[in-house]
Amino acid sequence: MAFRVRCPACGRLATITSSNEIDLRFKQAYCACRDPECGHTFVVNVEFSHTLSPSAHNLPDELRAQIRTTPPQEQASLFSERRGAPGAYIPPPPRPRQEAEEVEPIRF
Ligand SMILES: [Zn+2]
Repeated sequence: MAFRVRCPACGRLATITSSNEIDLRFKQAYCACRDPECGHTFVVNVEFSHTLSPSAHNLPDELRAQIRTTPPQEQASLFSERRGAPGAYIPPPPRPRQEAEEVEPIRF
């Protein structure tokens, strides 16, 4: 699902003209309002928030094998049994928030 960016000045849809990936968890999207009478260009930050389901790439091979042979309704128990165990999945810490850059106020 793509997401839409709306102009914070007029509320109309904007187009993402380019983007800059700062790291795997943070991207800046350069946007331009589609309303030619508005003409607002701006930057939207797209930031990783939190994990809903951990990546299978980060799991130990032994646990990945167990998941493949465990019915879906019982798979959650594999994780609760491992909490605190050596090799248990520990999500990476959240990225520290950066202070927003000073921006010119929008004039109407
Ligand atoms: Zn606009």
